[in-house]
Amino acid sequence: MSEQYDLLVVGGGINGAGIARDAAGRGLSVLLVEQGDLASATSSSSTKLIHGGLRYLEHYEFRLVREALQEREVLLAAAPHIIWPLTFVLPHHQGLRPKWMLRAGLFLYDHLAKRKRLPASRAVSFRGTPEGAPIKPAFTSGFAYADCWVDDARLVVLNALDAQSRGAIIETQTRCEALSRQNRQWLATITSSKNGPRTITARAIVNAAGPWVTGMVKQAGLGAKAAGLRLVKGSHIVVPRIHPHDHCYIFQNQDGRIAFAIPYQRDYTLIGTTDIPYDGDPAQVAISKDEITYLLELVNGYLATPVKREDVVWDYSGVRPLYDDKNSSASAVTRDYLFDLDRGDTGEQAPILSIYGGKITTYRRLAEHALQKLAPCLGNRTGDWTAQATLPGGDIPRGDFGAFLANCTAKLPWLDKSILQRWARCYGTRLFAMLGAAQGVSDLGPEIAPGLYEIELRFLMKTEWACCADDVLWRRTKLGLGMKQADIDAVTNWFNDIDASRKVAQ
Ligand SMILES: Cc1cc2nc3c(=O)[nH]c(=O)nc-3n(C[C@H](O)[C@H](O)[C@H](O)COP(=O)(O)OP(=O)(O)OC[C@H]3O[C@@H](n4cnc5c(N)ncnc54)[C@H](O)[C@@H]3O)c2cc1C
Repeated sequence: MSEQYDLLVVGGGINGAGIARDAAGRGLSVLLVEQGDLASATSSSSTKLIHGGLRYLEHYEFRLVREALQEREVLLAAAPHIIWPLTFVLPHHQGLRPKWMLRAGLFLYDHLAKRKRLPASRAVSFRGTPEGAPIKPAFTSGFAYADCWVDDARLVVLNALDAQSRGAIIETQTRCEALSRQNRQWLATITSSKNGPRTITARAIVNAAGPWVTGMVKQAGLGAKAAGLRLVKGSHIVVPRIHPHDHCYIFQNQDGRIAFAIPYQRDYTLIGTTDIPYDGDPAQVAISKDEITYLLELVNGYLATPVKREDVVWDYSGVRPLYDDKNSSASAVTRDYLFDLDRGDTGEQAPILSIYGGKITTYRRLAEHALQKLAPCLGNRTGDWTAQATLPGGDIPRGDFGAFLANCTAKLPWLDKSILQRWARCYGTRLFAMLGAAQGVSDLGPEIAPGLYEIELRFLMKTEWACCADDVLWRRTKLGLGMKQADIDAVTNWFNDIDASRKVAQ
């Protein structure tokens, strides 16, 4: 007999992981398959903001903005280790949006949803203030408002971990190759890079394949019914830190777009993003020279000390899998999500729910809505539950990360402060599970690369599906940034040695 599940989720990005978590928590049996690593596509390539999206107000996306604004504090409470408030400074530009318009937008932003922790917007002067210091003297004032920062790739992993702790099976490096509907159930062929192909059955499919969503619809034999998908590339550059304070800037451009300059990984600034129509292979997306020029010109229009091309130490690109609302401009295409539920010709066959669009910010609500949509097909009456639940490591008393870090420092005086700070952010209260009985640096195992001890590699391999250097250096952490090639090789070799010793043991 083949394995049977209530739900097969295809895609281990934020939407797939969020839906698997929500479904498992409702008592459904769930299998999630991800062809690469968790968050290996769009969900690790975002600007990493949990935000209402001030700009979307101009496109009258009030539903989306309201839902996103509400989610900021819900997610902040669920994962205070990987999500934290961030102040955005918006300089007023004489030739662009007038002050009254900015004020009106921020008034709406302040009032569309309830806030408990995040402060209201305010006017700021740039004369003699820290906010004004990095900005050209021509800009004398602006506004400040609050949104949140998120470690996007870790948010995906935490959702997968929580799903697993509630009974879901999460398989990475496993691709859904074929789907066929057998009246009340689906037969799915899935191929794991380790164990080869197998067939499973599921009562319902969630197609959360992101940029590959229409490919999956075709695999299910529903090509003619696929909704329109618009792929829009967005790229970021990373440069050495351009300002000392912790606020981020939101800069307006002449073309109506905006770009962010955000403090990143202590020593860097993240600058992005772009909106470029894309029709290539989503797996091969990369920044172009023109995008780098565009981002540099945009921020240098504001910065007193310009950023140069040779300052760029890293870049990344992703593809937004947006629902095609036929808007002519790539930056104006709706960022809201759309569900396409197919129940076959009779309307009563096994369902497949395909997901178009969405934001990291709204993934939890998207998951709730997806489960509500599938509930009648699956006969599941369990109610929504994720709004009050923390994510793994996020059960920090009162969500007070500062107090949690102080407590960790007192308990672990022997641990280097910057490593402790990084671990507290990455793992939250799971930090103590990683350390186990370790009582001193010698218990952490060899330091495989600067600041990366074997104890952490083993933890990531055993509990977070990490199977190669990239998984650790670019998704579970961002230690790859600024790391020498020899150190990256050392991490690769560590994984190779583990693989070799496993093969010997078999
Ligand atoms: C440049 C940029 C900036 C952004 N900034 C923000 C932001 O600041 N805040 C915000 O809220 N949102 C932001 N977003 C939007 C957000 O990142 C996306 O909406 C979200 O990540 C989409 O997640 P997903 O799960 O739908 O897709 P993905 O993350 O792409 O996941 C889909 C997964 O499906 C897998 N897959 C595909 N086919 C198969 C198959 N056959 N078998 C198994 N697995 C398969 C893929 O490998 C992939 O991992 C941004 C997006 C971009 C591109």
